[in-house]
Amino acid sequence: MKCLKCGRPAVFHMRHHKLALCEIHYPEWFVKQTERAIQKYRMFDPGARVLIAVSGGKDSLALWDVLMGLGYAVHGLYIDLGIDWRHKGGIDYSSVSREKVVQFAATRPEARFTVVDVAAEYGESMPQAAQRIRRGRDKPCSICGLIKRHVMNRVARDGDYDVLVTGHNLDDEAAALFGNVLHWKTGYLARQAPVLPAQGEGLVRKAKPFCRLYERETAAYTLIAGIDYVYAECPYAIGATSLRYKETLSQMEHQAPGTKLQFYLGFLRARKEAFFRERAEGVTLTPCHNCGQPSSAPDLCAFCRLWER
Ligand code: SF4
Ligand SMILES: [Zn+2]
Ligand SMILES: [Zn+2]
Repeated sequence: MKCLKCGRPAVFHMRHHKLALCEIHYPEWFVKQTERAIQKYRMFDPGARVLIAVSGGKDSLALWDVLMGLGYAVHGLYIDLGIDWRHKGGIDYSSVSREKVVQFAATRPEARFTVVDVAAEYGESMPQAAQRIRRGRDKPCSICGLIKRHVMNRVARDGDYDVLVTGHNLDDEAAALFGNVLHWKTGYLARQAPVLPAQGEGLVRKAKPFCRLYERETAAYTLIAGIDYVYAECPYAIGATSLRYKETLSQMEHQAPGTKLQFYLGFLRARKEAFFRERAEGVTLTPCHNCGQPSSAPDLCAFCRLWER
């Protein structure tokens, strides 16, 4: 197969776009798609101060790379959750991930980042806090999500960033959408968007510049750009429902290329309708008495309650 732009051998073929590109034109296309999404959804302006949550995985490192390349003032944030599975024959996942972030930044002189070590700052790692609260029941993912959201918002507020960006790709968004539709979580559907505006002083603006790009597209970019990342999934992700949804959607995609993109973009169009909008506007938030972050609870936010118990 040949590159549609220059006729050289193509390295990557996107069946859903009927497009094959070479190793020069694919990264160019990828960067342009990201930039287009930032502009189309008015995610942030060229002069914005951008905080990027980096996990050491391919998506967040690729996004960091692309945003720096586009000339944005972007600062990384790595949250060390203390996920270590060496006692179960696995890897010290958080340390390995952290190392990938350090390595990435070391090769790019303009890359700056902050590390928040959850155990050092709050007295317990994420799995320890989850164990205390849930006593080993279920996965710690809901508590992990709560901690990450709190820390990201805190760092973004303290550093006066205009926007917090994450590396969520189309596969992530389509799987989340699938789950939200399957269980008719209308509140989540109302808040699932490429960009979430800031709410008052408390909740920082959030954006997902890769929301229209397939996971295999971000993977191809990291490969061509020579970005090394943590290949392993988080050990707690094994058996997660979101992975099952991803598999189901990937089967459908295989039979009909473009399914995921149509599903997600169709949702974004439907989202503009009044039903979802009302749900989005119906949530009232008040500042937490302890940390000041917005919360739907009247006194302490869920994060502060976590450390109180
Ligand atoms: S899979 Fe791992 S990183 Fe993701 S939410 Fe669950 S515990 Fe946290
Ligand atoms: Zn080419
Ligand atoms: Zn709080």
